[in-house]
Amino acid sequence: MPTPEDEQGSLEEPPNPLSETPAAAADISKPPSADADPPPIVEFIGVEKTYAAGTDKAFTAISDVNFSVPDLRNTGEFVGILGPSGCGKSTILRLIAGLAPQFPHTKGQVLVHGQPVTKPGPDRGMVFQDYTSFSNRTVLDNVAFGLECQGMSKADRYEISREWIGKVGLDPDADSDKYPHQLSGGMKQRVAIARSLILKPRIILMDEPFGALDPVTRQRMQDLLVGLWRELEATVFFVTHDVPEAVYLGDRIYMFSNSPGTILRELEVPLPDRPSRQMQRETSFQDLVYEIGGVLDELEEGRD
Ligand code: ADP
Repeated sequence: MPTPEDEQGSLEEPPNPLSETPAAAADISKPPSADADPPPIVEFIGVEKTYAAGTDKAFTAISDVNFSVPDLRNTGEFVGILGPSGCGKSTILRLIAGLAPQFPHTKGQVLVHGQPVTKPGPDRGMVFQDYTSFSNRTVLDNVAFGLECQGMSKADRYEISREWIGKVGLDPDADSDKYPHQLSGGMKQRVAIARSLILKPRIILMDEPFGALDPVTRQRMQDLLVGLWRELEATVFFVTHDVPEAVYLGDRIYMFSNSPGTILRELEVPLPDRPSRQMQRETSFQDLVYEIGGVLDELEEGRD
């Protein structure tokens, strides 16, 4: 399936030959049977990624990464991935997504629904920081893109897409015919979120999606995301280096070390039950942010 990145010719590498394995790929999108205890929705076992492995430019970005996120079918979970720039957060996300050149990893196992990841799939939706949309498509056609690829009729996909345009806080009447260059950064990111979530992925991978937004828009988008996540009951992996954002959005937070990134600590944090702006003003929230910021600093300093 072509992506805006393909169109812009920038982000993605050619498809990995592994992606041509239809049987293995089919396993990943297979829903777990209703009565069995489901395997973890995502599991990393001793994962390492060395770029340019075997050459004199070899660089190990992540090393010995281990975690297991349970498949909570009726709620999903919000997993924050927190760590300094360059510690391998995007690498982790793109290994789950099956996107080259981060995929494939060089050691260990990356499992989704208990199956090795072999390629990207509709069960995993990705939202990047740079609002990826097709510049030559309207908002409506951008949001409808995934459904179009699935072969849905124009009338059906437009109806569902207009619903999603509304769900992400845009106006289906006023905004549907606009092109990306006519939208603000926040609006573009709303389109990108709708474009990804319309396919109802069970796993949502978000790579610093609000990093380029101003603080007020950012808080609004955080609230929007919490609402959509509750509705979709998906498991969200959310990369950020912003401690308040991780604390507000996360159920659990994986704190990563500097490069080569590995998990230094796993924390459980209270669920967001009030709007971001309100929660972030509260002393208990600020104390937690301060504490986690302190733990991150300490862990960084204490590493040899
Ligand atoms: P983060 O998302 O935490 O900022 P990344 O996962 O993007 O970190 O990158 C981790 C490290 O791997 C960085 O040092 C980065 O320069 C390096 N890296 C990322 N992609 C590549 C690549 N394709 N080739 C070589 N090094 C890479």
